[in-house]
Amino acid sequence: MASNPIRSFLNSSRTTEKTRVFSKFPAGIIALSLAFGVLSTPAFALGKKKVTDFSGKIIFSGDVPLNQVKDIQDDLKRLHDLTPGPDAPAMSAWMQELLGIKKGDGPELELWLRDRVRYILGEDFNADHSVFVAREKHEYLNPFLMPVVEEAPLGMTPLQTESDGRHAARLLTESLSPLPKIFNGSGFSDSGAVTVMSNFGSALYFTGKINGLLVGIKIPGAGEARVVSPRAGIIKIGAGLFKALVDAKDSTGVGDSMSRLSTFFHEARHSDGNGASLSFLHAVCPKGHDLEHINACDRNLNGPYTVGGVIGRHLTELCEKCSVAEKEALRLSYLDSFGRVIRVTAADAQPRHSLIYYNACLKFLSEPEPAPKYCSVLSKLEPAPVDFDVDSRPWDDSPEGSR
Ligand SMILES: [Zn+2]
Repeated sequence: MASNPIRSFLNSSRTTEKTRVFSKFPAGIIALSLAFGVLSTPAFALGKKKVTDFSGKIIFSGDVPLNQVKDIQDDLKRLHDLTPGPDAPAMSAWMQELLGIKKGDGPELELWLRDRVRYILGEDFNADHSVFVAREKHEYLNPFLMPVVEEAPLGMTPLQTESDGRHAARLLTESLSPLPKIFNGSGFSDSGAVTVMSNFGSALYFTGKINGLLVGIKIPGAGEARVVSPRAGIIKIGAGLFKALVDAKDSTGVGDSMSRLSTFFHEARHSDGNGASLSFLHAVCPKGHDLEHINACDRNLNGPYTVGGVIGRHLTELCEKCSVAEKEALRLSYLDSFGRVIRVTAADAQPRHSLIYYNACLKFLSEPEPAPKYCSVLSKLEPAPVDFDVDSRPWDDSPEGSR
């Protein structure tokens, strides 16, 4: 009937219960249910009791398998116990400034992480039954300012042959997830790459902002959360997170913990930023890069790949119990992270903007529903053409709203 999925979604949500089927969401959103390949039935019972890390601050969704809960609890405890010894390399002023920390010991890093990570969802978390519109109209900070969602040139990626929603979902997922290149040489799948983790909360916030509504989520064992900021801190486990670092059979070693923690910090960075820097979305890797045409790089100097790399190096240096092989694997991983930081963008390689916003706004043209505010300044979302090479710089990391 109605051609506008946003409108039909809003209409249906007025008359029915507030938990909505995700597929009714418009393109930006959307997609997530497709992108995350949700299963309808979890393979294990949903826990009713709240399960947390040792501090009680980070909450596990009831659908996270218990062995994974245990591993992550161990990871966070190992982070807490980190103490730079007398021989540890001094922390650079750059790292202090990047993270706003002084000593770089466990408790300080743990605090940084906890500000940005609040919930951990399982790999098969069922978004279809869990995400709902908490409020149909919501006033966002910086309503006219949206981040650039980069996209490779047309025809360069299989994503663009997918249907609208799936395409948008995949793009958003890629923009908010680290794609592992180094996992014993087998990180890539047919669909492009394996996701190790993703910042689901940031994706929900972004989706809500695009559509001018407030998104909520029901988390088994933890209750409901309203996504009023990218700092909602809802992190989703991906298929690659528990792939062992060096020993194919065991992912519980201290090196595995350090590797997962680096990924955590990467994801946590996606909880930062506002307006144009919202969630520190990834950039399309430039021509000639190993990950050319994939949204797996950063076009700034303080984004997730920088944070993940800096933390990875720091944890490697402080890891007294790591074996030589573990340290080498960790080193390859953080060097890979640093290799995804684009330092200069050539004049003739300015990022191409995704059509996500345009598609979302076009749908309002023939509908009485008012378009989201940013649509009125859509042309300004396009980066202005330049005739000189552009140096990357640090982005504003203060978050939009707070939880
Ligand atoms: Zn990422």
